[in-house]
Amino acid sequence: MNIILLGAPGAGKGTEASKIVDTYKLPHISTGDIFRENIKNQTPIGLLAKSYIDKGLLVPDEVTCKIVEERISREDCKNGYMLDGFPRTIAQAEALDKITKIDLVINIDVDFSLLLDRLCGRRVCKDCGETYHLKRLNGETKCARCGGELYQRKDDNPETVQSRLSVYNDQTAPLIEYYTNKGVIFNVDGSTTPEAVHELVSAKLDSMK
Ligand code: ADP
Ligand code: ZN
Repeated sequence: MNIILLGAPGAGKGTEASKIVDTYKLPHISTGDIFRENIKNQTPIGLLAKSYIDKGLLVPDEVTCKIVEERISREDCKNGYMLDGFPRTIAQAEALDKITKIDLVINIDVDFSLLLDRLCGRRVCKDCGETYHLKRLNGETKCARCGGELYQRKDDNPETVQSRLSVYNDQTAPLIEYYTNKGVIFNVDGSTTPEAVHELVSAKLDSMK
């Protein structure tokens, strides 16, 4: 099964993605993670991506589409995969339609007023990518899952977050209609808890087996 996770920054795509991966063993393809890995290794793609990501802007479609196309053509994706953070523009969705068939788009819907706090308080494990909220960490600085150091993403500051949210509104939100028209969208309320989201998503995925 080929799945897309759609949602605003902070909607909980990453959290739900790691739950789906644990349960359904699908390769998890996060364009954000791929870019961060490239930035860490100072590759040419990383250097280019950094100049956009630090401003809260999208990396150009040509670059992003090429990376995804290469990634989903690999052997481990032949029985399905899960895209997280891609597509983010109509042009990316159209490029994807040319190379693959999408079975389900899970749209995690969260009220905008919650996103700013979620993003600015977010802490991420540098080793496994698990995310936490500052308020629930109670001073803890290590990952509960693997013991890795927690850090704040450079783009999780109020200014960059504002620009990411407006980029989402302008460029990514239109994808909801795009996939609704294709009849593949599944809307989930993401303002509840990660567990409640996962329960709804698992029920949907199980019904499609
Ligand atoms: P979030 O969903 O929390 O904003 P991601 O980790 O998915 O974070 O992405 C971080 C940044 O990487 C984005 O703000 C954007 O600059 C860049 N990026 C990720 N995916 C894409 C994409 N599909 N197209 C263009 N830029 C992307
Ligand atoms: Zn960890």
